[in-house]
Amino acid sequence: MEFQPVIGLEVHAQLLTRSKLFCSCSTQFGAPPNVHTCPVCLGLPGALPVLNWEAVIMAVRAALALECTVNPMSVFARKNYFYPDLPKGYQISQFDLPLAENGIARVLSGERTAEGHIVNRCERTFGITRVHLEEDAGKSLHEGAPAAEAKSYVNLNRSGVPLIEFVSEPDFRSSQEAYDYLTHLRKTLLYLGVCDGNMEEGSLRCDANVSVRPSESSVFGTKVEIKNLNSFRYLQRALDYEIERQGRVIKEGGRIVQETRLWDEAKDCTSSMRSKEEAHDYRYFPEPDLPPLQLDPAWIAEMKLSLPELPHEKVLRLAAQYGLSNDEALQVTATVALAAYFETCASASANPRGALNWITGDLAYTLKKSGAEIEACPLPPERLAALVRLVDSGEISGKMAKTVFDEIYLSGEAPADAVKRLGLTQISDEAALEAVISSVIAANPRQLAEFRSGKEKLFGYFVGQIMKETKGQANPKLLNELLRKKLVG
Ligand SMILES: [Zn+2]
Repeated sequence: MEFQPVIGLEVHAQLLTRSKLFCSCSTQFGAPPNVHTCPVCLGLPGALPVLNWEAVIMAVRAALALECTVNPMSVFARKNYFYPDLPKGYQISQFDLPLAENGIARVLSGERTAEGHIVNRCERTFGITRVHLEEDAGKSLHEGAPAAEAKSYVNLNRSGVPLIEFVSEPDFRSSQEAYDYLTHLRKTLLYLGVCDGNMEEGSLRCDANVSVRPSESSVFGTKVEIKNLNSFRYLQRALDYEIERQGRVIKEGGRIVQETRLWDEAKDCTSSMRSKEEAHDYRYFPEPDLPPLQLDPAWIAEMKLSLPELPHEKVLRLAAQYGLSNDEALQVTATVALAAYFETCASASANPRGALNWITGDLAYTLKKSGAEIEACPLPPERLAALVRLVDSGEISGKMAKTVFDEIYLSGEAPADAVKRLGLTQISDEAALEAVISSVIAANPRQLAEFRSGKEKLFGYFVGQIMKETKGQANPKLLNELLRKKLVG
């Protein structure tokens, strides 16, 4: 029996506001514990929340970018549960009436082969059920602190930090689709500048709902929730593990239990955290301290018009305008800055493919080696374009261009100046090259005779001799043409 996985994702993204969702405390990451707190985010009696408008703007932009309908009225609700990192005993979230609903993510998604290659990348659409705005809880610390074996600590700097949650439809049929969707979502938030997308610092967090069903069935199986997926790799591995586990349980005649499981990176598996019986009943009710959030439809329409070019639009435009494949366009639009660098270089060099090869090749490698992002690239795109042009015009060879690249990367020197300084000019002058070829042939009469009697591989010998004579500066293409003519006689 073959099984088809059914996956839905819940993604929490921290908004890049300077202050928290309901108070003016800083949201800065990495401050000493409990420094960024006040009566509101400590949950002291009598403290009242005041909504941060900046967070609303960011959340609305994100929802609109994912083609959601933003509700003119949404309601904040209390989600009640007890935990030491939640001093109020409830989290302010949204329930019945969320900020936005019914979105669509248009994702260039593919299939992963056994070797790990992605093939058949094409546009797939995944539904977004709802988007809501909520505050984060604090953070409990059980390890790495003084007397940790006897004590636990709590840091409330994160308490009240604004989050948006995206709840997807159960639309993913493979771990790769879920992976591609999360990548797309992260990219969209980065393009909008509303989240830094840093999964290590917890700015982007993901939970997954997974079930499997016989391939021919249209009924969903029992779903399991997986938490703790704080990297793209964990998401993919946890889903693959869980899909395999559920299929195995069913094949062996067992039943899937509705439960919450945790991904355990060290053991490379998911393990049960709590069953349905232990699941929380949050007893949601409308937050009495906050009025409903009312948004003017005209303002929402204005916000939609003010959105920048979004990742999917950029991919389609770049692919069409510069003749790139989907994979290439995806790669070069990873960030707004990288796409801008590519476009400048492609236009200035009039050779988009040449620009792409340099940017995804030597430039990417050099940036990675120095741990820098494209924003901090010392070589301006116009200079890289000039280098592409020098190769295209035949003035230098591709091999020389690599030397020039290494030479100008840090200094930003004009490539033509570096070529002169290094004496790298390629010999593309026919007469000059012919003279060298003639003298080399004249100096090797035996090899010439052998070549003419059919020893074809001696062609390479002549090429080598001429390259030696010209210190590697002969234009390889021209050399091949002229040499063949002369040798054939
Ligand atoms: Zn506060």
